[in-house]
Amino acid sequence: MIRLKLLTISLLILSYSVCFAEFRVAVSTTQIADLTYNVAGDDIIIQSILSPGQDPHTYSPVPKDIETVSKADLVIENGLHLEGKNWMRTLANDAGKTLVTATSGLRPLIMEKDGMKVNDPHAWFTPQNAAVYLNNITRALIKLDPANKHNYVARAKLYLANLKALDGWIRSEVSTIPPEKRVLVSNHDAFQYFAKAYGFINTAPIGWSTGSEVGGGVTPKRREEVINSIKQMNVKAIFFETTINPKLIREIAKDAGVKIGGELYSDSMGDVDTPGETYIGMMRENVLKIVKGLK
Ligand SMILES: [Zn+2]
Repeated sequence: MIRLKLLTISLLILSYSVCFAEFRVAVSTTQIADLTYNVAGDDIIIQSILSPGQDPHTYSPVPKDIETVSKADLVIENGLHLEGKNWMRTLANDAGKTLVTATSGLRPLIMEKDGMKVNDPHAWFTPQNAAVYLNNITRALIKLDPANKHNYVARAKLYLANLKALDGWIRSEVSTIPPEKRVLVSNHDAFQYFAKAYGFINTAPIGWSTGSEVGGGVTPKRREEVINSIKQMNVKAIFFETTINPKLIREIAKDAGVKIGGELYSDSMGDVDTPGETYIGMMRENVLKIVKGLK
């Protein structure tokens, strides 16, 4: 009897240690961390380099990040130069790790940056594109850990259905805003994909991308043009974004005589225990704010 018990206990210990022989994945952004978690569950340890509220464009890795990546079995980046100076790619290359680009296979939109036409990296802002991220992540996890393939495929299937439901819900919410009022003005250029998918005109004032804000590079002439265009478009509200200093947009709103529609999640999800702590939560809260502000 005692012998049987011992055997059971040692079997339990064995299976416990097998379960916890986990792989580690290092990801760059909070939204990629959430998408990865929805495929990986607790089968893989996921570590995000960025914390909620941090700006991927201007981030510089710290020694702790080098350690995180060196312990990882796989590294996932957004790509399309979201990570300024390709810091995630550099971390992965320096540590000799396999790098997966979550936006692989997407057809990027073009945006203007410092007078140059570049690929727009903010691709996660449509559920359709989030599905591309998810499929790339799922393929990479299966390759890393084929023993758990069933779990990864099953979780991905459920989450893809959630993304499809999210898209339908966004369409129905946005349909309550009269088409002529669908103008989305914010202090950063993160919403082009969203705007295009859901019939908004998106004008992030040109020259206000993160880099120019840091450099304080908005000229008085440009500022006046922006205020005039906001007045002409007859928008009810303009928005600011969580990863960006809101001072400029407050001043512009005041001078243009429009209200602030609130803070939208852009390059980062919200803190833990906030409604924006997941990808779907972030999208939901943004849409509700936009609908309330513009209707
Ligand atoms: Zn951005």
